[in-house]
Amino acid sequence: MAPSVAILGSTGSIGEQTLQVISEAPEQFDVVALSAARSLDRLIEQARKYRPRLVIVDQPSDVAIVASALPAMTEVACGAEGLTAAAEMAEISVNAIVGFAGLPVTMASLAAGRRLALANKESLITAAPLVEQVRSTKGASLVPVDSEHCAIFQCLNGVSGNDRSVRRLVLTASGGPFRGRSAQSLSSVTLTEALAHPTWSMGPKITVDSSTLMNKGLEVIEAHALFHTPFDQIDVVVHPQSIVHSMVEFSDGSTIAQLSNPDMRLPIGYALSYPDRLDVAFGSLDLLTATTLTFEPPDRATFRCLDLAYEAGRVGGAAPAWLSAANEIAVEAFLEGRLSWGQIAEVVEATLQSYVADPLRSLEALIAADAKSREVARTVVAQCTIN
Ligand code: NAD
Ligand code: MG
Repeated sequence: MAPSVAILGSTGSIGEQTLQVISEAPEQFDVVALSAARSLDRLIEQARKYRPRLVIVDQPSDVAIVASALPAMTEVACGAEGLTAAAEMAEISVNAIVGFAGLPVTMASLAAGRRLALANKESLITAAPLVEQVRSTKGASLVPVDSEHCAIFQCLNGVSGNDRSVRRLVLTASGGPFRGRSAQSLSSVTLTEALAHPTWSMGPKITVDSSTLMNKGLEVIEAHALFHTPFDQIDVVVHPQSIVHSMVEFSDGSTIAQLSNPDMRLPIGYALSYPDRLDVAFGSLDLLTATTLTFEPPDRATFRCLDLAYEAGRVGGAAPAWLSAANEIAVEAFLEGRLSWGQIAEVVEATLQSYVADPLRSLEALIAADAKSREVARTVVAQCTIN
């Protein structure tokens, strides 16, 4: 029988692409739950097409609106409780929610011994010690959807990152729209410029994160959490063509890489089908028409978020949760025109100065850490003036 699939955050970039993958292989997957926080019209349209048993919205006031548009047998639930129920029910949960709000899906899916197809990196980064505990639940598996981590997962092919033959993980970064620009020339960039990603079409938050290299910083912590590789053995190289999605270097000098055209439907399909491979090709390469592949070091002085993330990752405990929460607040303020692009790194750095060592032993501690960091970051944002 086709495995049941919950797609949480189904109206977003990853959510929509997941439904495209499933549309290409409809007999292989049974969509049982969909969720969105906004775009209710689109959520209703999706639910009418895929007929899930459960639909989850974010606001209690939206429950009746969505329920009245769907058949009576479709249950409409709300918030973290609804997301948890979906993740416990489905054999596979695609966590395509953006930000810390994706946490209930990550925790519930693994704790229930299910497959987690994880796009929502923020939940893993912030909750790594807690995710580690539920990951060992019988039957649980975590397959990354993030293209770099899916690439590394494929390159490792069963070898864990702390195997002594693994020398380093090399994450590739496109460099974003501001690659090659000086800090001075970036002082007045606009939102439109930050949202113009050269190779990937993604949701607004991750697109801004790509422009600051915070996305790559979060991905370094994500790689550490997924593969247990020490931070000193995780490197970042800028590869503007986004064809090599990441690499693993081994002790005998071999480097294994995964290549394809940039198309998130490939890692999504891989995470859905693992350990098999989907019989539909997304992003397949024609090497004769492919452009030249180039690699260069990241400009760490201009794109400070990368090293802020390495630092928070090395500190561990709740520091990555503080970093991620402060970044969410800063990016939201930038998207709303309350902060300049250059101030995103400043807000994150200033917020982290208030961090006090916290080993993060419980979910309650994580929720408190997230709230505290947001509070500090909001104060810092309020003190910023846009020049
Ligand atoms: P998006 O903004 O396009 O979509 C986000 C989805 O989450 C929407 O369905 C939205 O309604 C829902 N959502 C937003 N806030 C919510 C909340 N508070 N509670 C519940 N649901 C909420 O985002 P995206 O680009 O699809 O990214 C989703 C996740 O995948 C992010 O963590 C991102 O870092 C990761 N990711 C995305 C890509 C990509 O190509 N888009 C690639 C790699 C990783
Ligand atoms: Mg990525």
